[in-house]
Amino acid sequence: MEIAAEAGFLILVIALLALVACLSWCVMSWVVRICPLASRRFALANLLVLIGTLLLSARTDQPSFWFWFVSDTAVLAGFFFVYLGLLKLFKLSWSARSAQLTLALALLALLPLNQGSNSAWLAGLIFSAAAAILLAHAAVANFQAIKMEFSTSAALIISSPFALIALFFLVRFGLLLPDRQAITGYLSLRHPDSLPQLLFFVVLTVVINLSLVGNAFARLVSKIRSLADRDSLTGLWTRRIMQQQLLNHARSSQRHQSVFSILLIDLDYFKKINDKFGHQIGDQALLHASACFKQALRAEDWLARYGGEEFLVLLPDTGLSAASNIAERIRQQLATEPFAPAAGMALTASIGVACYQAGNNIEELIASVDRALYQAKAQGRNQVCLADCLTNNAEAS
Ligand code: GH3
Ligand code: MG
Ligand code: MG
Repeated sequence: MEIAAEAGFLILVIALLALVACLSWCVMSWVVRICPLASRRFALANLLVLIGTLLLSARTDQPSFWFWFVSDTAVLAGFFFVYLGLLKLFKLSWSARSAQLTLALALLALLPLNQGSNSAWLAGLIFSAAAAILLAHAAVANFQAIKMEFSTSAALIISSPFALIALFFLVRFGLLLPDRQAITGYLSLRHPDSLPQLLFFVVLTVVINLSLVGNAFARLVSKIRSLADRDSLTGLWTRRIMQQQLLNHARSSQRHQSVFSILLIDLDYFKKINDKFGHQIGDQALLHASACFKQALRAEDWLARYGGEEFLVLLPDTGLSAASNIAERIRQQLATEPFAPAAGMALTASIGVACYQAGNNIEELIASVDRALYQAKAQGRNQVCLADCLTNNAEAS
């Protein structure tokens, strides 16, 4: 009786935690509208755990459809929705097929197990294995998503709760497997073995929800970062990021006595494209140009939208002559790639090139590349000019 009372209290705590978490995710989804689709799945996951826990509270030694099968199904479905929510949160286009299959197979295997204590042992095994697999799915998805947007160590920290809980269920599976008597705590809440398990479920509900909140914040931070760092039209780096990179490269260049070069690219007669074809076609021309530039650059180069129709490229470890070859490649790529929406009008660019040497200052570097660009414009556009020497090498190279 004493044990049943304690178990009842712990079940009440789990149910309350799941209820509060469910309501909080509903507020996130429908009121605050933070990550609404993922929040909806997290709310549903908590609701399922709440239902599963309430049914569990009525479980006795006597197997029953509602207090065994439906209760286990609800909790497993809750874990499944945690995984689906994480896929939605991080916009991972992974197939949920293997998690669906795990859930479906577990339910099919659990459904006939309503009789006798042997079936309780089997149900315990199936539940533990399915829970471990579903939570391992969540841990992997979480790790990959955070690693892509932050770092491996951040990914390890944030995804570790799911991995640890998956590990717990795996260990539980391993302990149950050889010993049919070990299932006693699973059978009835009147048994003393049920208390550690219920206590673990309290921790699990809190930790999973804290981890989900951490994930939602991580997603928000990366969204805000992307809004601040990426140009909304072209997806290229913003001027602010380019300025940071210029400073970083200048510092590293002074430390290692290395060089880097920059290209300032300005589309020619762009106003005419807007005037003749409209701003929408003008926007498409900007997208077309940025795709051409990206194609001509290396993975380690930085390409930013510096102003309206101006782009700045940072070429690490590149001297003036190599940079002028790259600029020429970019110029040719744009001039020869047809831009169908503005038929009859050539889309070309003028490019200034400057090289940074250790000891120079960034403002002077920008001013010199600007002068080179001005020179390219003055000499007839659709050409490349080098800073300082101001050598016109457009058609030459
Ligand atoms: P130049 O060859 O001397 O560079 O001539 P230009 O017409 O390209 O130069 P100017 O700087 O006078 O005009 C740039 C135009 O780019 C003006 C502006 O309307 C257009 N522009 C700037 N940002 C955007 C944008 O985001 N979308 C569109 N469609 N047009 C833009
Ligand atoms: Mg301009
Ligand atoms: Mg222009």
